[in-house]
Amino acid sequence: MSKSVSERTRLTSATYDLAPSHRAVNVGVERGSTVLYACAEDLYDDRIQPGYGIEGLSTQRELMRLMCELEGATDVFLLPTGLSALTLAITACLKAGDEVVCVNSCYGPIRRFLQTQMARFGVTARYYDAGASADEVMALTNDKTALIIVESPGSLTFDIQDIPAIAKAAKARGILTLCDNTYGAGVLFKPLDHGIDMSMQALTKYVGGHSDILIGTVAVKDKALAKRLDDTSRAFSFFTSADESYLAIRGLRTLHLRLEQSGKSGLELARWLEGHDLVDRVLHPGLESFPGHDLFKRDFTGSNGLFSVVLKGGNIAASCAFLNALKLFGLGFSWGGFESLAIHFEPQLMGRAKLGQSQNLAYEGSLIRFYVGLEDPADLKADIAQALEVYRAAIG
Ligand SMILES: *Cc1c(COP(=O)(O)O)cnc(C)c1O
Repeated sequence: MSKSVSERTRLTSATYDLAPSHRAVNVGVERGSTVLYACAEDLYDDRIQPGYGIEGLSTQRELMRLMCELEGATDVFLLPTGLSALTLAITACLKAGDEVVCVNSCYGPIRRFLQTQMARFGVTARYYDAGASADEVMALTNDKTALIIVESPGSLTFDIQDIPAIAKAAKARGILTLCDNTYGAGVLFKPLDHGIDMSMQALTKYVGGHSDILIGTVAVKDKALAKRLDDTSRAFSFFTSADESYLAIRGLRTLHLRLEQSGKSGLELARWLEGHDLVDRVLHPGLESFPGHDLFKRDFTGSNGLFSVVLKGGNIAASCAFLNALKLFGLGFSWGGFESLAIHFEPQLMGRAKLGQSQNLAYEGSLIRFYVGLEDPADLKADIAQALEVYRAAIG
C-alpha cells in the first residue's frame, strides 16, 4: 500500500491490497504440508514458492508482508517463539572461533543460549554494562567479533542504550548488529531505520496482544543477510503455524490502539508511584527522572506499559506478600496482553550477577515489574495502593 498513508492505516487496511472484491475481510487459515503443482515440469523449479508447507502458505505470507510494513524490512522470517527468533539470528551469523558482544540487561534466556549452546560450538560471548557508550562497547570487540546484540530498554531494568551510535560504529568495523525490539513492538522504535542489521521481535507480546500465541520474527533489509537467515532457518526446519499467524495478523489490526492505551496507563501509574512513600525508585524510561530518558526521547516515539519499581526496605518475602495481595494484576511471566501482570525479579537479577554482571544489583529493596494492560488505570492504582499497605505491614 502507498506510503502516503500512515503506518497505522497501512496495517489496518492492508489486506485490501490482495483482492478487492467479494471475499472475507481477513485472510483465512490455510493449513497444509503438501502443495499441489500445476505440472511435472514445475516440481523441481525453485522459483515456484511455496513448494511445501514449511515455507509458509497464504496465512504466514500475509503476516510476513504486514511485518515488513511494520519493520521497514524487505524480508521477515517467522519463528515459533521470540527466543527462537533470537537463536536463529545468532546461529545464522556465527561460526566456531567467533566472538559475540551482548548487553548485560538482555532477555535472560539469550545469555543462557550464549553461555551453554554457543559456547559448546566454540563461540565466546562478552557482555557490556547497559549504560556503556558506543566507544566502550567497541572496546570489547576484536577481529573475531562477528555480532553485537543490543536491547533497549533492557529487560527488567529498562536501561537505555545509544543504539544508533553502536550500530554506526559496528558497521564501520564490519560487525553485524541484532536488536531485540520486543519493547518497541515495531511501533515505538524502528531498529532498521537506525542502522541495525537484524530487528527481532516476540510477537508473543504486543502484536499477539491476548496472551494466547507464541511467535517471533527477524526482520532485515539486506538480501545477502536474508539469504543467510533463510538457509539457516531451512536447515533447522523452523515452522510457525497458520493458526498462530492468523491470530498475529488479527493482533496487528489493533496493535497501535492497544499499545497506546497500555503505554499511557503505564506512565500514569509510574508517575503516581514515584510520589508514594514506600517507593524508592521507579524504573520507567518515559520518566524525566530516569537515566537515559533523553536518549529514549530522541529515538522512541513513546513508552509501552512495562516498568519496574524498587520498594523501600523489602526482601523476597515482602515482595511475595505484596504480589499475593494484588487482586487485579495476574502473577505470571510475559506481557503485552490485555491483562495487567506483576512479578518480582530479584531471582532473575541474581542470575545476571552469577555471570559476573553485578551492576544491576545496585538496586536494594523489593524489585517488582508491572505490566499495565487495558483495565481502567484508576482501578489498577487502587489495587496497588491496597497491596502496598500489606507490604508496609510485612516490612514492619
Ligand atoms: C518475551 C521476550 C522474548 C521471548 O519471546 P517468547 O515468544 O516468549 O520466546 C524475547 N525478548 C524479550 C525482550 C522478551 O520480552
